[in-house]
Amino acid sequence: MKWEKKKAESFASKINFAKMGGLAPAIAQDRETKDVLMLAFMDKGALVKTLTSGFMHYFSRSRKRIWKKGEESGNVQQVVSVKADCDSDSLLFSVRQKGPACHTGQESCFGEREFDLLALAKLIAERKRGAPTGSYTAKLLSDKRLAIAKVREESEEFIEATEKKGRGERIWEACDLLYHSLALAGACGITPSDINKELKKRHLNRK
Ligand SMILES: [Zn+2]
Repeated sequence: MKWEKKKAESFASKINFAKMGGLAPAIAQDRETKDVLMLAFMDKGALVKTLTSGFMHYFSRSRKRIWKKGEESGNVQQVVSVKADCDSDSLLFSVRQKGPACHTGQESCFGEREFDLLALAKLIAERKRGAPTGSYTAKLLSDKRLAIAKVREESEEFIEATEKKGRGERIWEACDLLYHSLALAGACGITPSDINKELKKRHLNRK
């Protein structure tokens, strides 16, 4: 996202900076994981600069100047979209983060992201681009027949667990099936964002 100066200034003029003495809180959110990466402040100049350059610029309260996120580390944040909140005094940016967002090396200033289904899907997608030797995931991704056989086997095991086993084993088998299903999807060239898009579409169309 990169706006013309006129459009950027018109957007910035609608933000209420007066409430905080010329500043507004700006949240940077990872466009894919939706993780909150950091919270910092913008004055009007930083906001206009962000919108016209397409890269996040903040106002440093300690250094009293506008700075570009990643100006030293290279870990820039490319703007994907911007929203003001209901009373136009805070900003939410969806960004494409290069490298870790935090100066400590963590992915987010609020700590490492939790490992979940989406993170697993992404890890599998990364393995497709390159994997350590002997990676089981890479093997599944490059051998569709193996991936199909595993999904078949794991779905049987999951069903069996739901019928005859306890909660712990059901969870275990559910994870096995989900992992292998994601690997088979990956072997067929389906990415986590393809899956997310479809899920979102269904969610929005739900009755
Ligand atoms: Zn930080």
